[in-house]
Amino acid sequence: MGAPGCGKGSMADRIEKEYGYPKVSTGGLLRDAVRNGTPLGLEAASQLGKGKLVEDRIVLALLRERLEKEDCRAGYTLDGFPRNLSQAVSLKEMDGRRPEAVFDIAVDEETIVKRILSRLTCGRCDAIYNSVAKPPKNDMICDVCGGPVIRRKDDDPVVIKERMRTYHEQTEPLIAYYDKGGSLHRIDGNGTVDETYAPIRKVLDRMLGGERGRGAGR
Ligand code: AMP
Repeated sequence: MGAPGCGKGSMADRIEKEYGYPKVSTGGLLRDAVRNGTPLGLEAASQLGKGKLVEDRIVLALLRERLEKEDCRAGYTLDGFPRNLSQAVSLKEMDGRRPEAVFDIAVDEETIVKRILSRLTCGRCDAIYNSVAKPPKNDMICDVCGGPVIRRKDDDPVVIKERMRTYHEQTEPLIAYYDKGGSLHRIDGNGTVDETYAPIRKVLDRMLGGERGRGAGR
C-alpha cells in the first residue's frame, strides 16, 4: 500500500522475481482489460485515467478472475488493492488467509510528484521506467517486451492532485485497519529501490524462514 508513485509496483516486481509470488496489480489488470477491449474494459475505460477509483464491481471481477489462475495458488503480491475499506472486506471474503503481510510505503509528497512526472511505463506490458534514473535501453522501446514506452495518461500534474486526494480520502484509512489486524509493516520509501526493498525482504525472509522460490514456506 501507499500513495501513487510510492514504489508499490517496483516492490511487487522485486518480490515476484525473488520469491515467485506473482505481482497482481489491479491498475495493470484494468489497463489490460481496456487495451483488450473486453466487456469490463469497455466499462472501465471511461473511469480510468481521471485519478478516481474505478467501481469496486469491475475491479473485483477482474481480480477474482486473476486470483483463480494456477500461479496464484501458493500466494501473490497485491499492488494497488485494496484501495478502500469495502475492497479490504471483499478481499477477506475472497481469501480469508490473506493478506499475511501488508507493507505501507511512505514517501514525502514532493518526492512523489517528482517521481510520477519522470515515470515512464510500457504501454503493452506495464514495465516501469524512469526518464532520469532508469530509462529504457533503446529509445522508448520496452526492454522486456519491445512494446512502446509511454507516459501514462494519469501521470500528469493535474491528475496527480486528484489521485493524491483519492488516496488520502479512501485508501489511507486502511493503514489503521491493517494495523489493528497486526499485519502492517511501515516502510520508508524515500530512498532508492534497493533501500526501500531491504526491510521488506527482511520481513518476508522472517515469515518464510529464509527460503526462496514459489510457495516457499507453505
Ligand atoms: P495504479 O496503476 O495502481 O496507479 O492505478 C491506476 C488507476 O487504476 C487508479 O488511479 C484507479 O483509477 C484505478 N485502480 C487501480 N486499482 C484500483 C482499485 N483497487 N480500486 C479502484 N480503482 C483502481
